[in-house]
Amino acid sequence: MSSADAAWSRMLADLDTRSLRRSLRPLETPQGTEVVRDGRTLLNFSSNDYLGLASHPAIIAALREGAAHHGAGSGASRLLCGSLPPHGELEETLAAFKGTRAALAFSSGFAAALGTIPALFGKGDVLILDKLAHACLIDGSRLSGATLRVYPHNDLDRLESHLGWARKNFPNSRVGVITESVFSMDGDLCPLAEIVALKERFDAVLYLDEAHAFGLLGAGGRGLADALGLAPRVDVQMGTLSKAAGLAGGYVCASRAAIDLAINRARSFIYSTAPPPAIAAAAIRALEIIASDEGNQRRQRVLGHAAHFAAISGLGPVPAAIFAVKLGEESHALESARSLEASGFLVPAIRYPTVPKGGARLRITFSAAHSRPEIDRLTLAIAHGLEHLCPAVLPKAAKKKGELGALGQRDHGTMRI
Ligand SMILES: *Cc1c(COP(=O)(O)O)cnc(C)c1O
Repeated sequence: MSSADAAWSRMLADLDTRSLRRSLRPLETPQGTEVVRDGRTLLNFSSNDYLGLASHPAIIAALREGAAHHGAGSGASRLLCGSLPPHGELEETLAAFKGTRAALAFSSGFAAALGTIPALFGKGDVLILDKLAHACLIDGSRLSGATLRVYPHNDLDRLESHLGWARKNFPNSRVGVITESVFSMDGDLCPLAEIVALKERFDAVLYLDEAHAFGLLGAGGRGLADALGLAPRVDVQMGTLSKAAGLAGGYVCASRAAIDLAINRARSFIYSTAPPPAIAAAAIRALEIIASDEGNQRRQRVLGHAAHFAAISGLGPVPAAIFAVKLGEESHALESARSLEASGFLVPAIRYPTVPKGGARLRITFSAAHSRPEIDRLTLAIAHGLEHLCPAVLPKAAKKKGELGALGQRDHGTMRI
């Protein structure tokens, strides 16, 4: 073993002792609500495939047709010779969907943030981020070279004071506010109307990551900004095609100048091969479905599941399709996830560094592809698990015990808990 390997092994052992080591456990089935892992069938509450589009026959067909028409790979960066018809069409579709002048597609949401933030902000500018902003927003901000300030999660007073500080000390700079609309690991919303009012008061720019709202909230699934009638006042709307759209790829929707500057300056766009054209073609199909009646039905179904879980668990509101059962200790989260797995549920434990140290949790995501009895079964399993492991987390749910108890007596056929 080389000395580097020995050091890397010690680092892994250290992660192990702190219950922070991660490893890959491949699924043996395609993405869906029932998956097989390590030979066991599990009910999947860990995917961001909110609308169940990852397995949609029309989207799979669009991928096939896209490859047949446009080839498998794009061959080069868009700026060399990789800009194929579906790439431009996808961007026109995205801009029309979001009501912006222009859009730019990337190979992932992560690449979109990593490229766009440093394209639009640089040394001498100020970026102000929510403490819980996604890793790609943090990394993109760091790469930009701008002066960074962080405000506690959704804390408007601190955001206001950072904005005041930025405007006073950097009077001629661009000042950007960066936040998610639905937070990926907490599932709560940002106070968007207040943030928009603040950024306007201080002549700042709002960069909004709608990764977990896209496809779910707003008319036709256009996002939280649309739901609140604020979309025209958000400067940059970012998102991903890998969650509700069931595919892969990221996007930014913004003014013509912002998008043209990103084409010229976003390094993850310029120096990266264009996404396969079939993915762009299938994403256009996914957007059509998302905006259609079928999309509305799927949205109603998944948001209905979330509301139902909130009502019968008593654990708290679920404004989109993510719920975090906060357990604190890493080992508690791991133990809970393992015991849920033993009962046939795939609910991941989320640990540091994805969430703050001591902020470990179970992260539940709902899908339109789930059935109502499946939501009931999960709710019961969670309540049972909490009762045994972390009764302190359960005060509200315990009060609702009557409701949960009644649920337990109902016949759910294949209930495995
Ligand atoms: C998943 C996610 C991304 C990254 O999108 P990918 O397409 O998976 O790279 C960006 N922002 C947030 C908030 C996310 O949850």
